[in-house]
Amino acid sequence: MTVTESSAKPSFVLAQQRNNVPLNCVAYSGRFAPSPTGPLHFGSLITAVASYCDAKAQHGRWLVRIEDTDIPRIYPGSEQHILRCIDAFGFQPDDDIILQKDRLALYEAVLDQLAQDRQIYACQCTRKMLGSSHIYAGSCRGLNLAFEQQAIRLKVADQQICFDDRLQGKHCANLQQDLGDFVLKRRDGIINYQLAVVVDDYLQGITHVVRGADLLDNTERQIWLGRVLHYPELSYMHLPLAMNSQGQKLSKQNLAHALDLSRAPELLQQALRALHQADVELDVPENMLKQAIMQWSIQHIPHSKQLSGHYL
Ligand code: GLU
Repeated sequence: MTVTESSAKPSFVLAQQRNNVPLNCVAYSGRFAPSPTGPLHFGSLITAVASYCDAKAQHGRWLVRIEDTDIPRIYPGSEQHILRCIDAFGFQPDDDIILQKDRLALYEAVLDQLAQDRQIYACQCTRKMLGSSHIYAGSCRGLNLAFEQQAIRLKVADQQICFDDRLQGKHCANLQQDLGDFVLKRRDGIINYQLAVVVDDYLQGITHVVRGADLLDNTERQIWLGRVLHYPELSYMHLPLAMNSQGQKLSKQNLAHALDLSRAPELLQQALRALHQADVELDVPENMLKQAIMQWSIQHIPHSKQLSGHYL
């Protein structure tokens, strides 16, 4: 009886969450999912604009989710900056903005489910033991270690996983050969991005992922986890990245400038130009976005991993 109860719990919790989503009415649900590891920069604006216009041009929903499970990497004040940007740039999310740090019980429920299905195992290997190899050999797979205070890895298979990216074309990986069993929860208890993103895309009823090409190589891991959990497959579009004058992608680590909210219309215009969209007239951001949605055409976005100009 206890077994039945505990095996019913995770799927019950998850089913309840997903039931809140109006899944039958929308064929397109997109999202913008920034991590608050620094203030948003021009590269983030490109992702926000593209995900918003693509969703709205297809009469879809657009949601915002703050990906803040990696607590040590949170940069003070950046969550507030994200919220101010959403407002100042005229984006209108179709539901409350969610924070992943409030949803840890859901990720744990999915880990319980994966443990019952014997898809995950505890790994005691330290970074030092793993050495410089990027491919995990699966040394802890057969050890049956207790989960407490260990990293939790998902088993992968020796098979090719492919998807058709709307911009980047066909992309494939063999997770066993390229990576090995990968971590879903770290030894320090932090839920890994791969787990949180897959669970939340499912629970929020997301159908279309539009994000930067720096995440292209993560996609097969997410597809694999989604398949193990019997979640529906998603459509992916990975955008070319904005680069700085040193040829580095704009990122918080490379000290990209924080978006200046007082210049929202100009920056919005620049972001649309970076995506090779037809020009919109300078106006209040809401009106500029309305026009951009009407003119939105993914055929014009460069099918490359990087944009050609330089940005700050
Ligand atoms: N949180 C991730 C980031 O800020 C994006 C995740 C995603 O779009 O899948 O880079």
